[in-house]
Amino acid sequence: MSNGECLTGAKRAAKALVNSRHAIAFTGAGISTESGIPDFRGPQGLWKRFNPALASIDYLNSDPRGFWDFYIERFRVLSSAKPNKAHLALAELERLGVIKYVITQNIDDLHRLAGSVNIIELHGNYKTVYCIRCNSSYPFELALSKYESGENPPRCPRCGGILRPNVVLFGEPVSEISKALELASISDAVLVVGSSLSVYPAAYVPLVVKQHGGVMILVNLEPTDYDDYADVVMHCKALEALEQILSQVKLILGGAGVGA
Ligand code: NAD
Repeated sequence: MSNGECLTGAKRAAKALVNSRHAIAFTGAGISTESGIPDFRGPQGLWKRFNPALASIDYLNSDPRGFWDFYIERFRVLSSAKPNKAHLALAELERLGVIKYVITQNIDDLHRLAGSVNIIELHGNYKTVYCIRCNSSYPFELALSKYESGENPPRCPRCGGILRPNVVLFGEPVSEISKALELASISDAVLVVGSSLSVYPAAYVPLVVKQHGGVMILVNLEPTDYDDYADVVMHCKALEALEQILSQVKLILGGAGVGA
């Protein structure tokens, strides 16, 4: 999609968002690729190099050492990442009262670092680990330093149980999903950014907004299965799309008028 086509999409998206009563954002790994964190299914995605089963609860239970060999690399990448302009634009849209909540599939903490306040992290957050035996929680740095000093799998300082990241692994329930679906059911617009919309139940969130008559805006580099279903589709980089949407929203709020 050319720059001009992204701008046209951004104008339509901004108008729909400003006209909405309760708009939410739904984000996926694609919003963070420009921060240096690879997504799963995009052109440079992790699943081009690794088997998705590595991020499953079954793998953690059957081979905790192998699981940590895989996961430690993710920790290193996640902990050095900074929010990019797309995260910052979403935080600004929240401050302007245009976006009420960010519901994210990401575990990277970048929405919080960017200044978003109302955040639901469907798949948890990498910043803490906990013991699978006694449930004690620790900063992820503890697991990292234990791993780096040769303790694999890293173990709980209190009871010696195996530590695990506080994220939802494949095969585990998504405890925050009911809150997210409830929010979706009262929302009349959803701005989807950087998600293939192929991981369930998370992907139900934008679909519920649309099913209730809301507007669905899709920002994604590649086509998704829901492009035909959405009201506005922008095949653009998240940071360019979000910057354009933000400046169009500011133009409208600045007095240019929302129009019909
Ligand atoms: P996904 O990998 O399935 O899809 C990401 C989508 O983003 C792809 O379709 C890709 O085309 C698009 N994309 C990549 N770069 C983009 C950019 N700069 N601008 C716009 N779009 C871009 O990711 P998903 O839908 O979030 O679902 C997969 C799971 O991945 C989630 O459950 C999430 O927990 C996990 N995940 C999270 C992170 C993170 O925390 N940053 C990173 C990798 C995976």
